[in-house]
Amino acid sequence: MKITKVESFILHVPLNPPITDAINAPTHWGVTGVRIFTDEGITGYGYTGTTAFGDKMITDTIDLYYAPELMGKDPFMVKDIWDKLRFGKMHWIGRAGITHMALAAVDIALWDIMSKAAEKPLWQYLGGHKSKGIKAYNTNGGWLNWSKDRLLKDITSYVEEGFTGVKMKVGNSNSREDYDRVKAVRKEIGDDILLMIDVNQMWNINTAMTWGKKLEEFDLYWLEEPLNPDDILNHKKLADELNIPIALGEHVYTKYAFRDYIHQGAVEYVQVDVTRVGGITEWLQVAGLAASYDLPIVPHVGDMGQVHQHLVASTQNSPMLEYIPWIRHIFEEPVIVEGGYYKLPELPGASTTIIDKYFEKYRVK
Ligand code: MG
Repeated sequence: MKITKVESFILHVPLNPPITDAINAPTHWGVTGVRIFTDEGITGYGYTGTTAFGDKMITDTIDLYYAPELMGKDPFMVKDIWDKLRFGKMHWIGRAGITHMALAAVDIALWDIMSKAAEKPLWQYLGGHKSKGIKAYNTNGGWLNWSKDRLLKDITSYVEEGFTGVKMKVGNSNSREDYDRVKAVRKEIGDDILLMIDVNQMWNINTAMTWGKKLEEFDLYWLEEPLNPDDILNHKKLADELNIPIALGEHVYTKYAFRDYIHQGAVEYVQVDVTRVGGITEWLQVAGLAASYDLPIVPHVGDMGQVHQHLVASTQNSPMLEYIPWIRHIFEEPVIVEGGYYKLPELPGASTTIIDKYFEKYRVK
């Protein structure tokens, strides 16, 4: 099989209503990536996730530097291709962020092609581990711009739908407000539902120590991204001092950075995101690394779950997956969660094929 054409794309899918966390206020979700065509008629789709900023820098990387390297190559040589792109012309200015997200999109498209050629959904192609579905937790009721009433109403409705885990955003400028909202949610949902909180990096070590300790009383399942993601040392301090496990990974770009977090005991739930590390190839390496430390992988869904459901379903140390249903309508086989569980995909590939109608509708020219 040979690659015959490489075509980048940017889609902006509107969020109704727009949401906020402590650092982001997106009005659209950016689905930015690549279609890779082959001489056997199989087309691979791969994408990364953005807050609808910086997309053109990602597609420029694909068009100008990765596409020429891909032409004529055999998609089944994915690891060879990965090494060539990673250590190619963009190495001098890249290695994380834009160039690595572009690499993720390409890598996902190649795995989509391989599993389509094998006529298996990716999770089976990867040696599926969970055949009965994946436990989901819901993030979509806990946004920072939700009033307290809406927060309680939405989170309760997800629990009633069957979700046994929910996440809410914190990181208000007034931490007392965070405390009151978490207290209200815990009271509303009772003790049996997993409750996670996400700071989105807004705290410093002192705030995290002070308010983390106060929040321990609410039996939180994890504390997500409390600090700057480059600050391994202070995450380690929190992991040692707080009785709430530390979760992070959505801004950690490489297996080397994960190694340092994991080896130093600075992370307890590894949220490696396939759209941030260099795609499926590197995601699997991080999952293996975490397995050797007996740490659970609970990915951040920059892809909104389409690819991650396959990865979680085929990874032994991955017990649960986030659910945010923002872009599911654009896919040929969208993620389906029923009764708090992801139903596993049946079509061949990585569930990344986008319906033509939406491909045109949301495309940024
Ligand atoms: Mg997060």
